[in-house]
Amino acid sequence: MLEDKFGRRFHYLRLSITDVCNFRCTYCLPDGYQCDGDRDFLSRQEISVLVNAFAGLGTSKIRLTGGEPSLRKDLPQIIEQCASTPGIEKVAITSNGFKLPQMIQSWADAGLSALNISMDSLDPRQFHAITGHNKLETVLEGIDMALDLGIQVKINSVLLKPYSDTMLSTALNWLKDKPVTLRMIELMQTGDNQPFFNDNHISGQPIKQRLLDQGWGQILRDKSAGPAQEFSHPDYTGRIGLIMPYSKDFCKSCNRLRVSSRGKLHLCLFAEQGLDLRPLLREGDMNALQQKLVTLLGQKEASHWLDKGYTGATQHLAMLGG
Ligand code: SAM
Ligand code: SF4
Repeated sequence: MLEDKFGRRFHYLRLSITDVCNFRCTYCLPDGYQCDGDRDFLSRQEISVLVNAFAGLGTSKIRLTGGEPSLRKDLPQIIEQCASTPGIEKVAITSNGFKLPQMIQSWADAGLSALNISMDSLDPRQFHAITGHNKLETVLEGIDMALDLGIQVKINSVLLKPYSDTMLSTALNWLKDKPVTLRMIELMQTGDNQPFFNDNHISGQPIKQRLLDQGWGQILRDKSAGPAQEFSHPDYTGRIGLIMPYSKDFCKSCNRLRVSSRGKLHLCLFAEQGLDLRPLLREGDMNALQQKLVTLLGQKEASHWLDKGYTGATQHLAMLGG
């Protein structure tokens, strides 16, 4: 098992398979994807070496992310490859959902077990204003299809000052009979979004208090469950989650490592730099790769230092997948 010097265990890998995205979310890629180099993303062979190496070190969950992972035509094959790796019990995707109705059946057939869909508003006009695309209806249709296929669905909603009140009330309404967990994520500062962050960041704490006041109860989660706080209510089928990276002790429950679409290991979402694994991935030397992962984990720091305005090398989260 991969364990760092602070006793945190890492059984979860977030693997970005492309940094290209078709959306223009205001907090992430407001000017759209800028092609600033080759698109030499990890091949299926390299992904196989990587996933086998992590699985051999105790990783049991893989999340495929991006950019927008569904822009890769070989996504069903990548899912299948991850799902059939010995030791991997759960394969998840984080997606903006624009291709969901078209693709969800093939992802399910390939062995997908869980899906996170980003949906920052349930109002079509607000959704359009945030993402640059008029796709809310498509995303909602895809979510229902995924639920019908028995896939576990979580929704990611970034908390943005102008929309947070409407979002909370419409979300609560929607969750009455939707068996999903909707996680509200505090906007994080990145290298590119500082003025936007200053204007739009709000804390999740008042929302937590509102939920508790309205009879929502915090669910006690396993120590290995990661940093989201989750709440349930007897009158609601769905659950609410809060991800508050600026709160004290957020990093204590860190259970994930990240690899970029070009094969760099990121020990933290806001690490100073990615650590290049590509030569070993190309060579396919599993033992050397595993040794390198164990050694590099020794450099993982206690915290992301985001509260001090430190964003490391992360210009925007499309670089790494959130
Ligand atoms: N394109 C896919 C999507 O949007 O789901 C996957 C990549 S996206 C970078 C992963 C997650 O990061 C999304 O849920 C997105 O809302 C979130 N995200 C992006 N930038 C963020 C920021 N500055 N603060 C908080 N969350 C952010
Ligand atoms: Fe694309 Fe996801 Fe970033 Fe939105 S949050 S621009 S969908 S990568």
